[in-house]
Amino acid sequence: MNNKNVSTILNQSTFSKEDIVFLLDLSSDNDIDLLFKKAYEVKLQHLSNEAYFRGLIEFSNYCIKDCLYCGIRKSSEVKRFLMSIDDISKMSTWAFNNNYGSVTLQSGERTDKDFIEFSNQAIKEIKKVSNDALGITLCLGEQSYDVYQKWFDLKAHRYLLRIETTNEQLYKSIHPNDSLHSLNNRIDCLKSLKKIGYQVGTGVMIGLPNQTTDMLADDILFFKKMDIDMIGMGPFILSKDTPLYDKAISLGLDSTEAKKYRTLLSLKMIAICRIVLKDVNIAATTALQALDPLGREKGLKAGANILMPIITLPKFRKDYQLYDDKPCLDDTADHCKVCLSSRVHSVGDVIGFNKWGDSPHFKKRNLL
Ligand code: SAM
Repeated sequence: MNNKNVSTILNQSTFSKEDIVFLLDLSSDNDIDLLFKKAYEVKLQHLSNEAYFRGLIEFSNYCIKDCLYCGIRKSSEVKRFLMSIDDISKMSTWAFNNNYGSVTLQSGERTDKDFIEFSNQAIKEIKKVSNDALGITLCLGEQSYDVYQKWFDLKAHRYLLRIETTNEQLYKSIHPNDSLHSLNNRIDCLKSLKKIGYQVGTGVMIGLPNQTTDMLADDILFFKKMDIDMIGMGPFILSKDTPLYDKAISLGLDSTEAKKYRTLLSLKMIAICRIVLKDVNIAATTALQALDPLGREKGLKAGANILMPIITLPKFRKDYQLYDDKPCLDDTADHCKVCLSSRVHSVGDVIGFNKWGDSPHFKKRNLL
């Protein structure tokens, strides 16, 4: 039991697990408002009101993993696609011409030679069309040290690999029980990425079946212990035809109330990460908007500073559905830009066009 009140905790400079659980469990509107205000204040103090765009290119949905929650898992019967390098060229040229500072390359997971070679070419193409100007974040899953090194040498400089949950038992309950789906391997990958010199991002899904705020507090402490530079996390969203769907339905996770709870918990996670970790980059993810039309604006208000507008060519979007009701499926990159720009301005933030917007935490830890 924590005898402190919310204001006392928010003014501390260090936070115990008990403090974090207390903040995650806040229930009065007034207290939650204090939490979000403090997080926005910390954002202004350690970063600024500038939000950065990472144009999201979802280039393939082939996947060797069978994660029990994901709409493009290996066993899922979706139409598979792999874009061409020409497509990558078109999307990154669009991002460059529209003054985006960076793009994020994401896809289902593969480790075969063809995939690695395709990714090599994609990174080179993005650098080529932008005269090296576009920053590159990769989100291509678990790879060998040498592959991570190769992509870094080609000048991809950020890598996002969500840990999904740091709780071993919960991890096992949402993944097949085999060596391809190992929490320890994921942790080792994060260590390799850091050693190579990437800005390293991780994150979790929030509101998973049987996940507690105690577990989420451990996740935040893990981010701190690993000295993480970037956070990309969002609510768990049900995906039909996945093994976790029935379980989630039986726990009532599809109700309006449950969705509201997961949205709020995700916003609290953003705010607490901002307050505890201070100078890291934090994304307001698309998944937040899937549960709440104003989710991404609320994310910025709760301390996030990164947005990942989808720039995937429209013809591929419907086949890259990680979860149900994914927003922006019928949109074009132009539409996403206009829509997100007005969302950023509506909360009093501005867009850092033509800037990489690297994690200040990364810069500081490299000066030490
Ligand atoms: N396979 C790569 C990896 O593991 O990093 C990259 C692609 S994976 C599809 C990207 C992220 O999608 C995962 O880290 C996971 O957190 C998220 N995701 C997948 N299914 C989801 C769901 N049903 N709800 C919320 N997020 C989901």
